[in-house]
Amino acid sequence: MKIKFCGAARQVTGSMHLLELKSGYKVLIDCGLDYEQQKEFHHDIDVVFPFDPKQIDAVILTHAHVDHSGNIPTLVKQGFAGQVLCTPPTGELTSFLLLDSLKIMEAEQRKQNRGKKKKRPKQSLYGYKDLLDSLDRLLTLPFNSPFRMNDELEIEFREAGHILGAASVVVKVTEGEKEHRLGFTGDLGNFDSKLMKDPRPFRDIQYLVTESTYGGRFHSSTRTPEEEMLHYITETCVNQPGRLVIPAFSVGRTQAIIFAFHKLYAQGLLPDVKIFVDSPLAIRTTHVYSKYKEYLNDESLAFLKKHGSLFEFPNLEYIEDKRSSEMLQDYYEPCVIISAAGMVEGGRIQEHVRNNIRNSYCTILIAGFCAEGTLGHRLLNGQGYVYMMGKEFPVFAKVAKTDTFSAHPDHSGLRSYVEASGGKSLKGIFLVHGEESSMEFLKNDLEREGYNSVHMPMKEEVFEVI
Ligand SMILES: [Zn+2]
Repeated sequence: MKIKFCGAARQVTGSMHLLELKSGYKVLIDCGLDYEQQKEFHHDIDVVFPFDPKQIDAVILTHAHVDHSGNIPTLVKQGFAGQVLCTPPTGELTSFLLLDSLKIMEAEQRKQNRGKKKKRPKQSLYGYKDLLDSLDRLLTLPFNSPFRMNDELEIEFREAGHILGAASVVVKVTEGEKEHRLGFTGDLGNFDSKLMKDPRPFRDIQYLVTESTYGGRFHSSTRTPEEEMLHYITETCVNQPGRLVIPAFSVGRTQAIIFAFHKLYAQGLLPDVKIFVDSPLAIRTTHVYSKYKEYLNDESLAFLKKHGSLFEFPNLEYIEDKRSSEMLQDYYEPCVIISAAGMVEGGRIQEHVRNNIRNSYCTILIAGFCAEGTLGHRLLNGQGYVYMMGKEFPVFAKVAKTDTFSAHPDHSGLRSYVEASGGKSLKGIFLVHGEESSMEFLKNDLEREGYNSVHMPMKEEVFEVI
């Protein structure tokens, strides 16, 4: 059998790996949007898959994030007719995220097509019909229960701990007398996360395909999420009459932040300050987190049993409609505003940042990874002025960063995970989903420890598994 690395090769987004069995059966592990090149999202080009979509028999989806799921409708549009296997929460979250992704693409398309008549107007990668067709193909499977796809192929989902429903997948392939056992991590979660279970390493695999997002980087926060939130809310909203504006991803990060505030409230430590969650997608996602609570860790379940809810408490207000979101501008009391998107590219957070960036009583707290070129990254660079929404603004607000909510393991976490998944007994380790420098660091470190064949596949590189 062969593995072809079709995406997230020496970069973070666009996850897509093709398994081709000797019999000709073809399975795709993830089918994500490539944000790195920005080409799929912002330019008028079609996605050209390095295979024929009509010949793919099935897709295994590790989790809902669009850099793993966002090109499934494109695949369907181009002729894929098989099923998409994922866990039940991933199925629900994927439907929201793909719809949101399509809306963003259409808004971008309208912006680019405005004004002069274009020879070839920009089109979305896919339409609503392709999206609905994709959702019809979802087939959900539970964790830790082997599923036989045919005589030669069996898969099993294991908890990856990254976001609700996120899975790592074991793939067992029988070819004649031989059995190949491969583990694909998908995106892993941070160990000791406050909501999710810890990632479950693989047992008894021969090859490991692992994410390497934070290779060479170490989480620096010494505070718990509650201590971190108490610090910022006190500094910003109690010691001065300010606003704490938190850009956060709607899926995973927002729920972790709300839970941290709820724990402070339950301990009687939360100051009497209003907390607004301004993101319709985050609200829908929070419902899915509440619906599938059995997928959360024991600590969350114990809290739920004691307090009756995870994501509801006095002082917390969810904002759904646009009008109420705009009215937050006129709320003059100190407050916290949590809104998406996390890298401050698009979404309602842009309005909140624009309205508060000249307010020296405001702190903008970046709660996650911001890729180069994003507004979040520019703010973190400490620039005195930033260009956003067509204008230049002086930055008088304080800009801070926290990595206590990180949804990926750091270098040490990745090392421990690889060790626990077979370590030196593995025949091959493939690093994907990381910037090249992060992968180099992790590869060198693993090789120094005597690990066998650590690879950093190039895009479209093929490895024969024998
Ligand atoms: Zn992810």
